[in-house]
Amino acid sequence: MSGARHVLVVGGGLNALFAAVLLGRDGHRVTVLERDPAEAPEPEVAWEVWQRRGCGQFRLPHYMQARFRHLLEAELPDVADSLVAAGALRYDVLAALPAAVSGGTHDGDDRFATLTARRPVLEAVVARTAAAQPGVRIRRGCTVRALVPGQPALPGVPHTAGVVTADGDEVRADLVVDASGRRSPLPALLADLGAAPPAEEQEDGGFVYYGRHFRGTMPDLRGSVQQWYDSVTVLTLPADNGTWSVTIVGSSRDQQLRALREPERWTAAMRCFPLASHWIDAEPITGVDAFGGPGDRLRRLVVDGRPIVTGLLPLGDAAAFTNPSVGRGTTIGLLHALRLRELLRSSDGAHPGEVAQLWAQDTAAAIEPWYRATVSTSCSRLAEIECDRTGVPAAPDDRWAMAKAMSAGTRRDPAVLRMQLEIAGMLALPPEVLSRPGAVERVLAAGGGAPRYPLPGPARHELLAAAGITVPA
Ligand SMILES: Cc1cc2nc3c(=O)[nH]c(=O)nc-3n(C[C@H](O)[C@H](O)[C@H](O)COP(=O)(O)OP(=O)(O)OC[C@H]3O[C@@H](n4cnc5c(N)ncnc54)[C@H](O)[C@@H]3O)c2cc1C
Repeated sequence: MSGARHVLVVGGGLNALFAAVLLGRDGHRVTVLERDPAEAPEPEVAWEVWQRRGCGQFRLPHYMQARFRHLLEAELPDVADSLVAAGALRYDVLAALPAAVSGGTHDGDDRFATLTARRPVLEAVVARTAAAQPGVRIRRGCTVRALVPGQPALPGVPHTAGVVTADGDEVRADLVVDASGRRSPLPALLADLGAAPPAEEQEDGGFVYYGRHFRGTMPDLRGSVQQWYDSVTVLTLPADNGTWSVTIVGSSRDQQLRALREPERWTAAMRCFPLASHWIDAEPITGVDAFGGPGDRLRRLVVDGRPIVTGLLPLGDAAAFTNPSVGRGTTIGLLHALRLRELLRSSDGAHPGEVAQLWAQDTAAAIEPWYRATVSTSCSRLAEIECDRTGVPAAPDDRWAMAKAMSAGTRRDPAVLRMQLEIAGMLALPPEVLSRPGAVERVLAAGGGAPRYPLPGPARHELLAAAGITVPA
């Protein structure tokens, strides 16, 4: 291919691997440098044997959205096939719901189906595909600790010509991609290179997750995979090979919920949710994993209209990290990796400053709207559960009122359910769905004026009492 480049990817997580496969197939030479030393095992044993200290969420609950399956089947169908062969689950939320809620099967409902798996299984499949891809080399146990300065392409703006590893190896490339995740060391690396600081927007994490994996016969879906209750959210997330996870999500300021780390209390708490409690009637394959959720962060390397560095592009979580409460990170990352492939296709021979600008524009157009929608939902939900916990009212929030009406309406109007699934599955952004003729009226008719928590479930004091959590007087 003309315009083939040597692309060096920092980090070897999901997005690095997706990018490596996509760019390798376009004829680029790709070198992936991953800090964790362990080679990717066969997907069948990945859950049992793969240790990935560099990725804190590696063994924590993951669920892929419907858009993820759409992108995979369209762009990487062999990866979708390999996932299915490794036991990934094609999960059709609508088909799984009772017909009284879904309204039966309609034309086009297939679009809501996803393909999902536990994170180690998913990553092992993508890693195996990347390792077999001609032109791709994956070096594990290789930490990047510095950027190599190149000839500046713009006056006063450092250029990156490669990286230096912890062993002192200098690896040069035509383009460096930072895919080192939410803990990306990029600001420090840029400072050492003499670059101005990136522009960053950050939101407080604020959620804490108490999750547990199970194995057995996949339980039936009585509510949605995400259910809102007084001061907590419950997630029931199907995965591969007859496994799934169940998670109670609360506010990280909620000291009382910390007792849910104990399996007995967690189990007693889960028994309070009639639409979800049957998901724990199976063999647990983990204890209760507690994880204080990280906040959202958007990082830009074009500041005030001018690149702060050239020759380096941020990808996936390193560019836009969304807190896990709505499970969008892997889908956003795959979208971003596909945009990177398009950028390299269209920018053959372009000036490095122009490449930096185009990437910033692409990220703003394709990724930022999902980042903002996710931040909006999670900030509002966090404010609501903080209000549940403290009794201090949250500020009025019209967008959240509409999201709540839509959520309540999903139980009463199958058309509203489908609107909500489009948004949750990342098939359409909320403004797109709500701007359709009659959509707002339909949502309000079905869910406007519903109680704050329409699903059957405990009040906060009942939940705490059931879990044996004492409330200080
Ligand atoms: C608790 C939790 C639950 C989540 N649940 C979901 C979910 O249900 N659905 C969903 O879609 N998303 C979920 N996510 C988000 C998802 O995990 C991320 O979006 C995804 O992992 C991002 O992939 P990445 O490749 O960008 O980064 P990562 O997967 O974090 O990979 C980054 C890699 O870079 C390596 N690295 C770091 N620094 C260096 C260095 N200096 N040199 C070399 N290598 C380096 C690390 O070792 C790591 O392997 C969740 C996240 C969390 C925290």
